[in-house]
Amino acid sequence: MTFLEKQTDPTTPMHWTGDMQADYFYSNGVAGDRFFKHLMKKDTFLASECPECGVTFIPPRLYCEDCFCGIPDDKWVEVKAQGVIRTNTTAMIDAHNEPLEEPVVMALIEIDDTDGAMLGRIKTDMLGMDLAGLMVKAKLRPRKDREGTMKDILYFEPY
Ligand SMILES: [Zn+2]
Repeated sequence: MTFLEKQTDPTTPMHWTGDMQADYFYSNGVAGDRFFKHLMKKDTFLASECPECGVTFIPPRLYCEDCFCGIPDDKWVEVKAQGVIRTNTTAMIDAHNEPLEEPVVMALIEIDDTDGAMLGRIKTDMLGMDLAGLMVKAKLRPRKDREGTMKDILYFEPY
């Protein structure tokens, strides 16, 4: 079937094979940019607190998702780069279904003094175990090497 052929049988889907270029650019946005610029200079995370309902967002937000009100500059707060694991998994294969050289433990970490959570790699030898409740802190790159990306958080480790 060629591209110009007319569809005559609606029960038989038409298809073409080929490649489609899909370039994309992900922006951190204003709040994300502020979070990462802070992380380049400090060993803490930056969160934002809703002045109406008090929810503390991490990653920070410019607007409360519940109240729809703006979060002013004086409601941005510094919090420790640590938290509690709520759920985790151990990956044995990569995104291409190839075995990893070493298993990787990934977790959802509720960040202390916030109502938010972050995904992070956990440095541990407790593979395949439920780590919920474990307190972990972020191991950050040395400040001189930080780039203002998630890669500045090397991993989280129990403390
Ligand atoms: Zn709110």
